[in-house]
Amino acid sequence: MLSRLGQLLGPSGIEKALSDPHARRPPRPCGLTVHPGRGCPNACLYCYVPDVLGTGPTEPEPTPLSGLEMAYALLANPYFVPGRMGTFLAMGAVCDPLHPLLVSKTLGIMRAVAAHLGNPIQFSTKMPIDASLAKEMPKDISISPLITIVTIEGARELEPKAPPPWERLEAIRELRKAGLKPMLFLRPLIPGLVELELEDLLSEARSAGAVGVVVGSLRVSRAILARLARLGLDRPIRSRLRGPVGDSLVVVPCPDLKAKAIRLAREKGLVAFKAACCANAFCAQVPCTGLCWLRGFCTNCPNQCTKKLPEVVEADVLEALKATFGLRPLSAQVGEARLTVVLRRSARARKVIRVARKVLEVATRRAVVFKWA
Ligand code: SF4
Ligand code: SF4
Repeated sequence: MLSRLGQLLGPSGIEKALSDPHARRPPRPCGLTVHPGRGCPNACLYCYVPDVLGTGPTEPEPTPLSGLEMAYALLANPYFVPGRMGTFLAMGAVCDPLHPLLVSKTLGIMRAVAAHLGNPIQFSTKMPIDASLAKEMPKDISISPLITIVTIEGARELEPKAPPPWERLEAIRELRKAGLKPMLFLRPLIPGLVELELEDLLSEARSAGAVGVVVGSLRVSRAILARLARLGLDRPIRSRLRGPVGDSLVVVPCPDLKAKAIRLAREKGLVAFKAACCANAFCAQVPCTGLCWLRGFCTNCPNQCTKKLPEVVEADVLEALKATFGLRPLSAQVGEARLTVVLRRSARARKVIRVARKVLEVATRRAVVFKWA
């Protein structure tokens, strides 16, 4: 696949793709993050992007890569498994992928992934989506749209420059009309605010055509807490934290809010997810690459991952580890949920084991355990 794509790109395109961080970065729990750009001007008070990028709210800088170059970079990434059953791709970690400065990049990446890789793609956004934009999204791969709405009443203060929630509900409507399965992205759940709005948020999303909802926790740093304090929202958050907050991001535990949101969502006919990768899996109708059914994030959605696990035989595991990583395992034992590989200690094995574990985990959809002989 690399050599086929390389022929389309030429030497300078290959060099550009290989020097990009997308050719190296390890996956996050939601999948491999793809950045059509970096930065966002919307200045949501709870946003962690400024913490991650070390900047304030800023116009996004588009990636220098074309769609095809991005596809090549992903394919060259040692963690990446191509195909519909391969690595999940997630756009929206450090930008809004449908920001006007990024939308053509994002569509170009989606088209290149559709034409050459086939991996399921997820994006999260607060941007308006009209009928023509919804139709421009490729139909020959699985796309999982997450539309972020965390408050209706407090949107003007909390998300001062983002499009208003009613425009995002309209986006849900258009995506559904275009045949996609939009989900309400109810992340972050903001304690002290979301309790008052849960019913309305879920009802509005459902009426607009959302298929499901993904709930997720708030992460705060000292700077984020200070911004939320302007609206008096710091107190309910601090009451859930064990200690003081510094410059690093910490998760605000909210199992009660998640449980309530999931219960209400189901009552309203929405499919509820505790993890974004599960929504991606549901849309693509493949088992979740995060193995959420093993890791406590499964909400028993209709995707029924455990009934879709690929058949795996020991000989294929041994062959794959040899061909891909130059390893010569002594044995591989394939179970329902777990794959145990026995290896001799070597410098090579120690060097590649982390990548090999992740790749095997996605390819076999089993928890991978390496044991030394
Ligand atoms: S829209 Fe998203 S990325 Fe942009 S400021 Fe708001 S939370 Fe951050
Ligand atoms: S069945 Fe469970 S693990 Fe699989 S996608 Fe649904 S919620 Fe996630």
